[in-house]
Amino acid sequence: MNLELFVLGTGGSIPLPNRYLSSVLLRRDGEFFLFDCGEGTQMSLRTLNLKWKKISAILITHTHADHITGLLGMLMLSSQVDRSAPLYVIGPPRIEEYIEQNRSILAMYINYKIVIKELDPNNLNTVVWETEQYRIRSFALKHSRMCVGYTLEELLRPGSFSPENAEALKVPRGELWSALQKGRNVVLEDGKVITPEQVLGKPRPGRKFSFVTDTRPIERIQKEVAGSDVFVCEGMFTNEHAQSAEEKQHMTAMEAATIAKKAGGIKKMGITHFSPRYTDHQIRLLEREARSIFPETYSLKDGMHIPIPYEE
Ligand SMILES: [Zn+2]
Ligand SMILES: [Zn+2]
Repeated sequence: MNLELFVLGTGGSIPLPNRYLSSVLLRRDGEFFLFDCGEGTQMSLRTLNLKWKKISAILITHTHADHITGLLGMLMLSSQVDRSAPLYVIGPPRIEEYIEQNRSILAMYINYKIVIKELDPNNLNTVVWETEQYRIRSFALKHSRMCVGYTLEELLRPGSFSPENAEALKVPRGELWSALQKGRNVVLEDGKVITPEQVLGKPRPGRKFSFVTDTRPIERIQKEVAGSDVFVCEGMFTNEHAQSAEEKQHMTAMEAATIAKKAGGIKKMGITHFSPRYTDHQIRLLEREARSIFPETYSLKDGMHIPIPYEE
């Protein structure tokens, strides 16, 4: 089961030619989830040859322009492709108004169903998407307007199959092996019942992805993102501009790194949402500052592809 991250936009505030605005795409076994949809998102999708039709849901962190102005263009792509499944848009209050007003003014023709799920302001820490294999949670951040972070966490998966045990128990190879691997009991020709526990190891953890931007560092984030294989987090400013970070309700890269360190179990942190004041070269400085606290920090770049493999 593949899990991969595509970085579509790493800019904050205003787009630059090589740095579009906030957006990442998570691909899980052919299903796409888009987190934020800043200006330029569809350009990056095109560059990376990702088909927008496969997006199941667009999850928006908050209604600041640099996180949602790409949404209209994305929805307008609809008139050029056919799509049977509905598109879910999940985000804080007023997302629906934003979409509907623009649809009306622009007379947008949309030939499929859009399901808008606005988060309840009194219940931001909640599960927004759930299947048998994984769930997506939102949680409250602290920004100049209502803003949420998201995690996608896979549930436990079955333990690894032991062919030695199956052979020792005289289970014939083939269908019965695959039934056991799927967690079902099987009955042998002599009537003996074999349970999956007899041939499978301990259940193994799934993977976790977290997306956190725009916020001040608050304790809740550590708890929510703990154990992430990949933690994408804003690191908008260098330490020199810590004052700006505080005034604008953002974080420095070092503050992001402190969260990653304190949360525990984070394998990699990707920093994003860079202030347009920094050149690509200066972003290396942000990265260095963060690495002094959390060594597994990487500054993200538009167009990056990051596979998220199982630990074992
Ligand atoms: Zn922003
Ligand atoms: Zn913002």
